[in-house]
Amino acid sequence: MKLAIDLHSHSGYAGGVGQIKLEDICKTMKFKGIDIFGTGDCLLPARMEDLKNQLSEFSEGIYFLPQYTGKFLLQTEVIISVQLIGYKNRTVAHHLVLFPDFGCIEKMQVLMDKWGMKNTIGRPFIVCKNQKQLEERLFEISAIHPLMEIIPAHVMTPDGILGSKNMLTSIKEFYGNYTEKIRIIETGLSADPELLSTIPDLQNLTMISNSDCHSAALNRIGREFTVIETKEITYSSIISSLRQNNVLFTAEFNPSEGRYFLTGHKKNRHLDKKEVIFENQYPENLLCPHCGKKMTLGVKQRCQMLQSSNSNKIERKFFHLIPLVEVIAFALNLKSIKSKKVTSAFYGIMDIFSSEIALWQTDKKLIIKKLENKVDKNIIRSILSIKEGNFEFLPAGFDGQYGILKIKK
Ligand SMILES: [Zn+2]
Ligand SMILES: [Zn+2]
Repeated sequence: MKLAIDLHSHSGYAGGVGQIKLEDICKTMKFKGIDIFGTGDCLLPARMEDLKNQLSEFSEGIYFLPQYTGKFLLQTEVIISVQLIGYKNRTVAHHLVLFPDFGCIEKMQVLMDKWGMKNTIGRPFIVCKNQKQLEERLFEISAIHPLMEIIPAHVMTPDGILGSKNMLTSIKEFYGNYTEKIRIIETGLSADPELLSTIPDLQNLTMISNSDCHSAALNRIGREFTVIETKEITYSSIISSLRQNNVLFTAEFNPSEGRYFLTGHKKNRHLDKKEVIFENQYPENLLCPHCGKKMTLGVKQRCQMLQSSNSNKIERKFFHLIPLVEVIAFALNLKSIKSKKVTSAFYGIMDIFSSEIALWQTDKKLIIKKLENKVDKNIIRSILSIKEGNFEFLPAGFDGQYGILKIKK
């Protein structure tokens, strides 16, 4: 069977947002066509208790909220840092950890305690003295259960394993003997499988896409996801599909909409509000020509540094996706995707198509037939423009700022 999975999210415990209700997540999942959603932050004891209290077991390792069809898998993000020999700064990289059941989470909580790690926030840190200790700890996590999975998150963003803050030349510098246990990576919002396919370290790994969302909003959940072929809806079946790369396709954010696609400084860094963006060539020392301070290297340029032409790349199916509420807001010339006009148009379309993914997979003629006279003409025109690829992000995402959607008429 086919399953649409989105395995990276955060709760209010990860900071920045208020608590997010599981009910709201389930409602949005249905519209976005997501079958399985990563709970986010499950390692934190308070969050684990919330989840235990609210969720029921659907099948081995898969949970659900009574009265809703959406299902959950236990997931957290951890930040692992280590002092590597030959590097001035500590190497820091975000990782997803997937758990087969609540008992495994409790065992990892015991490990965190043993290592003296504070486990008091949604996305906790695991601080390692050196590469040997890091390796040992990763093996200890894996030894909790054969189906525990550690996945490098958003690999090319500044906080990712191969990102610009670390400047590693190979993931082996970080993982050492654990490298062969890394079987899956997350592409991240500012990259897609095409950009990553010629990076030798990543070529043979399963690539998955997740929303990494901190809210249940319609433009956040399922903004990236992965569709896998799997035998049944169980944790073990999903993990073995991922380990064997039974990915049918990933739905990707346009990398140029991602917050770290290009190199530069956004306008609020400068008193005169001038934006500095480098699309291709950039100053080698990365110093901003406007203010002289260091710029954030874009994922596009970081990928170019690591790509190699000797490629035996695996063909990967994927397509780019733009959240429908963003398309509607553009069509109606409204700034906020939360405006009533936008959401009511969205629900109107969802009465006709069962989910957003169903809409995008329908051909143009049928879209016109189904939406004509029921939905605002500008919205239909914008949806068709997106289908035809008549859009761009201008400026593209850079320095922590999302790319800005422009749909051409
Ligand atoms: Zn992260
Ligand atoms: Zn600057």
